[in-house]
Amino acid sequence: MAKEAGNYQLVKKLNRISTLNIIRQHKSISRKQLARELGLTPTAITGIIRDLMAAGYVMEKGLGKSSGGRRPVNLHFIPDSGYVIGAEITKSKTTLGVVNLDAKPLVINRCNIDMAEPRRGLEQLAGEVKKMIKENHLEEIRILGMGIACSGLVDIVTKVVKRSPNLGGKWRDIPIETWLQEMLGINIFVENNSNAAALAEYTFGRGKETRNMAYINLGEGISAGIILDGTLAYGYKGYTGEIGHLVIDENGPLCNCGNNGCLESLYAVPALVRKANNELALYSGKDPLKTIWREKGSVTIEDIITFAGDADSYAGKLVRQAAWQIGKGVAAIINLCNPEAVFVGGILATAGDSLLEPLAKSMQKYAFPELAREVRLELSTMQKDTGFYGGCAVAIRALFDGGAEALLDV
Ligand SMILES: [Zn+2]
Repeated sequence: MAKEAGNYQLVKKLNRISTLNIIRQHKSISRKQLARELGLTPTAITGIIRDLMAAGYVMEKGLGKSSGGRRPVNLHFIPDSGYVIGAEITKSKTTLGVVNLDAKPLVINRCNIDMAEPRRGLEQLAGEVKKMIKENHLEEIRILGMGIACSGLVDIVTKVVKRSPNLGGKWRDIPIETWLQEMLGINIFVENNSNAAALAEYTFGRGKETRNMAYINLGEGISAGIILDGTLAYGYKGYTGEIGHLVIDENGPLCNCGNNGCLESLYAVPALVRKANNELALYSGKDPLKTIWREKGSVTIEDIITFAGDADSYAGKLVRQAAWQIGKGVAAIINLCNPEAVFVGGILATAGDSLLEPLAKSMQKYAFPELAREVRLELSTMQKDTGFYGGCAVAIRALFDGGAEALLDV
């Protein structure tokens, strides 16, 4: 008996989730249409809608077309019925915020959190989350989950961060979901940052118009998230898209993967900043970036991007050279996956056309012509915040895929 009752409860919950998903996908829908789409009886639908309305997820608004008789009442999903927290964590900076269930942001904070010690860094993050909830007077009951985007290898089965050299050497086998769940009492969903960003682009950005796309993250590392036929391509453990480890120069610098001369070891943001600072020290010509270097003793990626617009300047040449080489990695993705669109994000993407134009030329040269000709290469819709929206998208996906009790327990 107990098992049957359990099954009945489960079916009831799953029916609620499916109903909510259909209402969310349509702008407005009547009970009759819903019953038809879900293959449920009108009585069952009436009961489900009553529960969903009581829980605040659905409202009645306007009248639909009559198919003879009374015009049916339309149902709408209420995006502000719940919120999710999103975070993108990097070595020293975390973007943290809250969005509604349509990914509309309520608040976005940027905090300096040192992640070198994983446990201490995550405790600090939990503290920032609590502070954000309090300062913004958010109703805790409406916070349905939190998604975390982080660099490195995230095992899709165990949800453990296997290794993340860009976060720090101590990031090995870190059970980030379990730890944060204990610290915050919120459902936590972790995802690799490029996968998360690809999901954000696909769910909320211009990627919506495609079924096959890639997102290239140009930040502390270089990696890709790939959507094939509407689904994130995970591979065996979730470690797809590591294009940063394409070897460009066998005699190049040592990469944190153990090889020499990987794309990432030469052209990811830390490598570009290091190269600029080393070369500017010896640079004798007149250049705006050299002036900054003289004033401050070093330059940042933001300084490089500020002057990248002038193609003849040091910064312009550096960004163009990086874009040309990164184009080889993008060409590899195009040759392997045949996407309709490739979105470029991460801090380097804020260089805009200075990056995109040479990258497009290089991609056209190195990818197979028929594939290259049909692909759209664009800047990411959400630019440097794609990782943050990625965290949000991961949490929202988990909720609506039925993975979270928070949404089911209405
Ligand atoms: Zn490497």
